[in-house]
Amino acid sequence: MALERAVDILKYADEQKKCVIGFDAFDYNSVKWIIDTAEEEQIPVIMMIYPGDRTLIPLSTFAAITKDLAKKVKVPVALMLDHGPNFDTVMEAVRGGFTSMMIDTSHLDFEENVRQTAEVVKTCHGLGIDVEGELGHVGIASRESDYADADGYTKVADALEFIERTGVDSLAIAIGTAHGAYVSKPHLDLTRLDEINRATDIPLVLHGGTGVPEDQLKAAFGLGINKLNYATGYKLKSFDVAKELVERGEIRPRLSDLLMAMNQPMKDFVRGIMRMAWPK
Ligand SMILES: [Zn+2]
Repeated sequence: MALERAVDILKYADEQKKCVIGFDAFDYNSVKWIIDTAEEEQIPVIMMIYPGDRTLIPLSTFAAITKDLAKKVKVPVALMLDHGPNFDTVMEAVRGGFTSMMIDTSHLDFEENVRQTAEVVKTCHGLGIDVEGELGHVGIASRESDYADADGYTKVADALEFIERTGVDSLAIAIGTAHGAYVSKPHLDLTRLDEINRATDIPLVLHGGTGVPEDQLKAAFGLGINKLNYATGYKLKSFDVAKELVERGEIRPRLSDLLMAMNQPMKDFVRGIMRMAWPK
């Protein structure tokens, strides 16, 4: 199938009261493991790339691979730039053929976040591209205060104003998660999530899913989280699987053999996460 827009997949997820995983991939194999699993499970998926990984693969090459693999399957696949840092990087992804964007200027003050996000939304909507914004501080999991301190969490009134003034199609919010590996058990502010969900009518997104207890994630999916970003966990797992296969010493010492041997364990891992968020 041709690529779909993330917002259309998210609307479908919202109707189904389910959650789509936005996976951060970084090369042909990491994209293929995800799309093949999505097809086997018939669970829609959003393929993403983190701008920092552009040194590994240009955005246009990543887009071409995703588009080609999506064409070969029936399950809906969207292609989104993860954490676009500014207008120029988003435009690079637009030229590369991405169907959906995230602009993350959440580290700036509210007014500046509104201004830069609205500028991206205006241009992207003119091109038929949907946009995810971010409001509140989803920080770094190695700093406990980044996720345990409620001062940085998204406020309900701010979320309403942000959506109205920017026109974003989906919104990443801060309710107690952070990026990377947590140094202590995170506790999601589900009451706040419920309030934001009731007050707004667009799909909500949770970043920093790696390491959040499953019961908390499932509760969040029932309260309006329709997209879970999964980046660190996927990268850690692919490293661990490779390491284990090498240490077991059963494969020929060739990178091509290693990648082929990684296929099944990586797909099984992706399957587990997809089924958790999209139960049949
Ligand atoms: Zn993120």
